[in-house]
Amino acid sequence: MTQSRHTMSVQEPSERIKNFQEVVGGYQENEAISEAQRCLHCKARPCTSGCPVGVNIPDFVKKVAEGDFEEAYRIVRETNALPAVCGRVCPQERQCEGRCVRNKMDEAVSIGGLERFVADYHMAHSAVPAPRSVDGRRVAVVGSGPAGLSCAGELSRLGYRVTVFEALHLAGGVLVYGIPQFRLPKEIVRRELEELRSQGVEFVLNAVIGRTETIEELFEEGYEAVFLGTGAGLPNFMHVPGENARGVFSANEYLTRINLMKAYTENAETPIFFGKRVIVVGGGNVAMDAARCARRLGSEVTVVYRRTEEELPARREEIVHAKEEGIAFRFLLGPKEVLTENDEVRGLLCAEMRLGEQDASGRRRPIPTGNLVTIEADCIIPALGTSPNPLLARTTKGLVFQQHGEIQADEDGRTALEGVFAGGDAVTGAATVILAMGAGRKAARAIHSFLKQK
Ligand code: FAD
Ligand code: SF4
Ligand code: SF4
Repeated sequence: MTQSRHTMSVQEPSERIKNFQEVVGGYQENEAISEAQRCLHCKARPCTSGCPVGVNIPDFVKKVAEGDFEEAYRIVRETNALPAVCGRVCPQERQCEGRCVRNKMDEAVSIGGLERFVADYHMAHSAVPAPRSVDGRRVAVVGSGPAGLSCAGELSRLGYRVTVFEALHLAGGVLVYGIPQFRLPKEIVRRELEELRSQGVEFVLNAVIGRTETIEELFEEGYEAVFLGTGAGLPNFMHVPGENARGVFSANEYLTRINLMKAYTENAETPIFFGKRVIVVGGGNVAMDAARCARRLGSEVTVVYRRTEEELPARREEIVHAKEEGIAFRFLLGPKEVLTENDEVRGLLCAEMRLGEQDASGRRRPIPTGNLVTIEADCIIPALGTSPNPLLARTTKGLVFQQHGEIQADEDGRTALEGVFAGGDAVTGAATVILAMGAGRKAARAIHSFLKQK
């Protein structure tokens, strides 16, 4: 079996930097079948053990190989509430595909590509049933990101009447306000949300729990358990002189203006700064997204990262695509000062680094060499990680929080407050879509056993 991995179609870099349309096209039916035929149906299922929600990969891939796409979709959907999303954004090379036995022969089976294919196929060939109302016991889910959605989906499947409270005017969390359209079309997220509505999940938008109403008030209204999936939306900054100058935007703000508010369109009510020369500081998915958005707005973009290319934490595909799009990378540089003129950004002064011993994260620590480097720019976007918003900590008695504001919860999401569960980025700090979904699902089961005993 020497057939090599089937690649998906990709928009040409020179074209795609002029638009926000999806970069990677999915498989056609014949390509999906052929790719699925590369699977060796390993008895030990190492791929499944690499998936945080345990998708039954060999069985769904077998159904794709047989051309039974709806059955393949049904198998994926048993454990994954958002397959069209995960197929597109999971860091597969470090998860399911990283464990695929075919890596030893040539290349992993394109598990993410096949998952995306079956989800897209299902969407294209079936209508979503109308929303139904449910009469079960009531559970409140706070936050409509992947953690909240997967918790809500699992609970409604178990017969509960679930209401999701979302602070923003659109549901989806980072899937709608963070990850750009060219990686994850918002139509896909909207459709996944419709599937949940059809299961009976209700959504209340523009509801900031902790401000609009408190967790205590939710219990008074008749909710018997609460799940907190409030994410980690508070950006970290560089903490260097000049950071407050005009032209510095957190990646969160920059991406929200672009993705949620469509600030780049002609009649948008929310403006965006079109920088000529943009520096993005950081090396994760958020940094790649900010850099690639800036490129599409016509900017010359440089990513500044304090370690080497090897340590870049972003998905491999995003790094490759960013480079193809003409984004420059400057490694082993850390921000030292934002250079300004009349309080407007003119550049970034950086300290040159070398790599020392490994730190607690297992990565080699960057150490300043003493040399300084200046890069000219009129816009700087720090993408240096995020922490949970402190609102709940301020307004909820009895919840326990960790050092950086993460909610303290056990393996199954139980917090220090009876009946209150939590999961996703709000507990772990910024992580991944599928880890947040896994946490939401686990917490749903813990809520189920809590309510059965109550
Ligand atoms: P979120 O998605 O952050 O959702 C939390 C929701 O809660 C938000 O909608 C928020 O408005 C709402 N909320 C907060 N407080 C309240 C409140 N008090 N009341 C009501 N609602 C509230 N992961 C990947 O796996 N692959 C990727 O390619 C990837 N790319 C990323 C790109 C960007 C730009 C960002 C920011 C993240 C990316 N991630 C990626 C990480 C991933 O998106 C997150 O780990 C995941 O979304 C966490 O899910 P969550 O449900 O815990 O939180
Ligand atoms: Fe792989 Fe993510 Fe799908 Fe799991 S959910 S099989 S990790 S793409
Ligand atoms: Fe198929 Fe790879 Fe999983 Fe083996 S490890 S069953 S080849 S997907």
